[in-house]
Amino acid sequence: MKSHIQTKIKELLSESKRISLTYPTMAYELSKEAYDLAKEHHFKEEEANALIGLSFAYRAKSEINDMLQCSYDALELYDELQIFEGQIKALNLISIAYFYDSEYEQSLRYLVKARTILEQHPDQYMLSCVLNNIGEAFRESMRYEKALDYYNQGLSISREINADRNIASLLGNIGEVYYLQDKLDEALEYFDQSYQLILKDDDIITLAETENKLGKVYLSKKDTQLAEEYFYSALRRLESVDNKYYSIDVLLNITQLETVRARNVSLYYFDLAIQYAEDTNAKKKLCKAYELMAEYYEGNSDYQNALGCFKRYHHIEKEISVSVIGNRFTAMKIELDHLNDNREVNNSEVINTRLELEIERQKNELVKIHRINEVLEKKAYEDELTGIPNRRYINKELMRIWEKAAGQDLPIALFILDIDNFKKYNDNWGHVIGDQCLQKVAGCIKKIQMQRNDVFGRYGGEEFIYLALNINYNEAIEIGELFRSQVEEMSISFEEKETNQHLTISVGGVWGNLSDFTNVDELIQNADRQLYKAKALSRNKAIVSKDL
Ligand code: GH3
Ligand code: MG
Ligand code: MG
Repeated sequence: MKSHIQTKIKELLSESKRISLTYPTMAYELSKEAYDLAKEHHFKEEEANALIGLSFAYRAKSEINDMLQCSYDALELYDELQIFEGQIKALNLISIAYFYDSEYEQSLRYLVKARTILEQHPDQYMLSCVLNNIGEAFRESMRYEKALDYYNQGLSISREINADRNIASLLGNIGEVYYLQDKLDEALEYFDQSYQLILKDDDIITLAETENKLGKVYLSKKDTQLAEEYFYSALRRLESVDNKYYSIDVLLNITQLETVRARNVSLYYFDLAIQYAEDTNAKKKLCKAYELMAEYYEGNSDYQNALGCFKRYHHIEKEISVSVIGNRFTAMKIELDHLNDNREVNNSEVINTRLELEIERQKNELVKIHRINEVLEKKAYEDELTGIPNRRYINKELMRIWEKAAGQDLPIALFILDIDNFKKYNDNWGHVIGDQCLQKVAGCIKKIQMQRNDVFGRYGGEEFIYLALNINYNEAIEIGELFRSQVEEMSISFEEKETNQHLTISVGGVWGNLSDFTNVDELIQNADRQLYKAKALSRNKAIVSKDL
């Protein structure tokens, strides 16, 4: 009776494992059935095995917290039963779960535990898996030489025992390090070797992952045709098993491909990638998605959206890196405690230098982020055509001055400048010359503004706003008249045929003490009324009101 149920559990779990990557939900159900049977009959080892089965299924379903929970529960049981093979499997899965959550320090901690057990109970296959995963944790922390070292150790062991799957995985990971170092030919060679081995198998996720890597290299080599074939094939495979975690990378690569091809479908793929990254709580991938999306918007001169994405990126990046130095320090300590690498154990100087380098790297990163933020911030407040501040900036600046001067005496003048009959000018000359004319008018007023250190920007269309602080009424009238005359004196011909008619502007201004106005809108409305009067009178006029 007992052995019959144990056999049944074993069969369920082996079937679950076989299909876990392809049909994760079904795999989950099989493992759950095995788990319930084991629980019911108090078979502890089988219960632990079933937990491993569940963990695999959760992994394939990208449900990482559940994966972690099952692996921990399995580890506890294996510890109790002193089954070392099980301990290693559980530790390996725990480390993978942390890896998915970008917690590489934790990931490394559990891998090192697994390796310590393997030193007492040698198992070449398991050792090669653990070495591969240690390499992964190092690669993700950008310590490439260390990663290559561990991958190569794993590779030679896997070759000794003909573990094809491990060989393929290690070859792919080595290729990835070369790719990250921009050694494209080496990367392609390793990815190809890996792909040939994987094609013999039916491991959909690994196949998709490798196709994605191949596509990436071809994209870097500017072979968009091959890149497309590999990316879309990878995406189709991942969709067929409903795997979101790995799809994120493919989707982001497709955005890069589509941007190169200028097909204008990138946003769709960005949105999907972000959604998947949020669903699977893949912070590092989410960060990458926003970073690339910011670049995308910037490339399209959409600085406002670029800034939005950049801020999200920055925010998530900060979240991830809050403890990055601490984490890496701990990782180094773990290495010291467990890796028994005598070359480094007694060499605290090496660790110190690495720490200093790490701190330096973090500082540089912050400076870089700060600089990009500044550039984007500036662009978001700049009018693209004329290069002067835009409406967004003016509104922000007006609010800032308003709040700062609240309740104080601050004589100010606010002007609206509007080009006269600009519609007709455009009709006469066309929009391109019209644009140049806007640039000329902006440049002309900017000269005045620079001498006085006032605020000036384009409010929209052919309208500009000018704000002068600490100015008396007579000065306000003078400067309004100066705007008008300076534009007139540029002698921009209004029509194609030579006439004396030149381009002019009308100016509506309001002068007063800032505290006399109820709000910023009132200032603008008042200036607008004066502008209307100037237009109604004759145009080419400056009117500045004193009263509210
Ligand atoms: P008014 O003297 O009463 O101000 O007449 P107007 O023709 O200047 O005013 P209206 O508001 O009727 O037309 C404004 C024109 O400004 C319409 C539009 O073609 C032109 N315009 C607005 N923005 C731009 C731009 O960025 N470039 C060009 N070339 N023209 C612009
Ligand atoms: Mg107008
Ligand atoms: Mg006008």
